[in-house]
Amino acid sequence: MGIQTIGVVGAGAMGSGIANLIALNGFKVVLRDIEQKYLDHALNRIDSFMSKSVQRGKLTEEQKANALQNIHTTTELEDLKDADLVIEAVIENLELKKEVFAALDQIVRPGVIIATNTSSMSITEIAAATTRPELVAGLHFFNPAQIMKLVEIVRGLKTNDETIAQLKEFAAAIKKEYVEVKIDSPGFIVNRIMIPQFIEAIKLLQEGVASAEDIDKAVKLGLNYPMGPFELQDYAGVDIGYYVMEYFKEEFNNVQFAPPLLLKQMIRAGKLGKKTNNGFYDYN
Ligand code: NAD
Repeated sequence: MGIQTIGVVGAGAMGSGIANLIALNGFKVVLRDIEQKYLDHALNRIDSFMSKSVQRGKLTEEQKANALQNIHTTTELEDLKDADLVIEAVIENLELKKEVFAALDQIVRPGVIIATNTSSMSITEIAAATTRPELVAGLHFFNPAQIMKLVEIVRGLKTNDETIAQLKEFAAAIKKEYVEVKIDSPGFIVNRIMIPQFIEAIKLLQEGVASAEDIDKAVKLGLNYPMGPFELQDYAGVDIGYYVMEYFKEEFNNVQFAPPLLLKQMIRAGKLGKKTNNGFYDYN
């Protein structure tokens, strides 16, 4: 395959999970964030995830040590110059992603694929910030990347067949199941289906139809989902759903996708979920 070193840009929830996954599968990772404190936090998260795997007997101490050795952290984008593949996982903001892709295009060797972990945004538009749109594609992991089986491999308008083939080979090498998204459409497959469900769940809560606990319970037991919509949004961080809804509203030109008032208020109040400040369960 020729891919040995992978650059990961953004060391938050997803970037750290992707780095962890890739390192465990024997690849070298150069993990980049803008400040050392985010990288330290990412390394702590990776260490604690691997320690739990050791406790559960799924990983040996030696495998953990080897995987940690595979991860090099940096605040300098230039340190990705030797990467054989780059995966971008900065926040869900199109302008920022375009800036990051334009900068990466200058640094990364010609011929190297630059993939984005965007949850919803246009691969074609992100690719247009580079001089290599044929080598840009979506590689959409799910949270937590170490555990969730699926990746969506997404074609931009100019993505070539070889790029898609290489990403499929890479996904198989890190033991993921993949689906190919043939047309660059907002939210791809999973989020196109999930976001309307989130919106309806929030509307049910704000209309007082049922409590957050009961809506989650109904979805888990009635639809056989492992998590309810509020548990899942709090886990992912409610800001991501908000950005995706705003993006869908614009792209599909449809106010049905507008973030419900309750979610807007939570964003304004800085109530962002992520387990740390119990998001939706405070509104019952
Ligand atoms: P996050 O906020 O946890 O992490 C983003 C990280 O990017 C932060 O550490 C931030 O400091 C860093 N960053 C910002 N600008 C940067 C730059 N110029 N260079 C390097 N790093 C930079 O966000 P997240 O939840 O990890 O989401 C990242 C991406 O993954 C988004 O596009 C999101 O939509 C997507 N995604 C998220 C989930 C989820 O459940 N959280 C699932 C799938 C995909």
